[in-house]
Amino acid sequence: MTATAYDPIAFHEGLVKHGLIVPAGVDGIFGRGHVFEDVLDRFDKLILDIAAKDGAQVLLFPPTIDRTIIEKTHYMDSFPHLVGAVYSFFGKELAARQLSEHIHAGDAWGEHLAMTHVCLNPAACYPVYPTLTGKVPADGRLVTLFAWVFRHEPSIEPTRMQAFRIREYVRCGTPEQVVEWRNMWLQRGIELLQSLGLPARADVASDPFFGKGGKMLASNQVEQQLKFEVLVPVISEENPTATCSFNYHQDKFGEAFDIKTPDGETAHTACLGFGLERVTMALFQAHGFDPAAWPVAVRQKLWP
Ligand code: ZN
Repeated sequence: MTATAYDPIAFHEGLVKHGLIVPAGVDGIFGRGHVFEDVLDRFDKLILDIAAKDGAQVLLFPPTIDRTIIEKTHYMDSFPHLVGAVYSFFGKELAARQLSEHIHAGDAWGEHLAMTHVCLNPAACYPVYPTLTGKVPADGRLVTLFAWVFRHEPSIEPTRMQAFRIREYVRCGTPEQVVEWRNMWLQRGIELLQSLGLPARADVASDPFFGKGGKMLASNQVEQQLKFEVLVPVISEENPTATCSFNYHQDKFGEAFDIKTPDGETAHTACLGFGLERVTMALFQAHGFDPAAWPVAVRQKLWP
């Protein structure tokens, strides 16, 4: 029995009613309860377990990144509608008093702030690429990250969040190394989700590029099969939710950050990310709001 009949509002209400999430005033921003967190944590550990023998380097970055990464990757050409640039106050005494007056009067106050050197991280892998500048070893590089990411897309639909966590893997090396790795993981990802009783399937996908030019970029991406997603129905059967994505960037980041293979060619990169909240929600939708009542096989995987 699914938790709800694939209805975003009913699913949101169910998550709240069972204390799994706690509304926090803004669409797409909410607190997580301890049962929700327990499932999320255990799913993350399962991913780490199946990937343990790959020997990925573990890195952790804060949810704010160097603004120049956004600039060098041309993020604002493709996704200006999703950015979260951090602004702060740089003024003196008088300007501070004016700022305070505007806020107390209920006026807009954004124009009194100015850009800082950081942005909220929009993609788990972004802070890794500047660390790879130079020559990568003959067998390439493999990094894993746990990251909070931000996308400005407020929505009452619970699987569309403004801030969420990703378990990410990043591979860097020759085109062959990178594509082989991504294809291996695509199969692995589907099997992992299916082993938890989720009706997961893969499909070719594209990023939500902005505007008219974006349509062209998206169709190129589909044509070249650069992006795959593993989909699971959570709030809709017709439009299943992307629970993980597998992205082949070709030489985009290698060019932007001067990353080379040992023979001096521009390195290629690929990344994959599991949306940890989305997988957690998919589990609640598939098996019900009370994990104690989940199928034994699923429980044994998550609580061995
Ligand atoms: Zn990535």
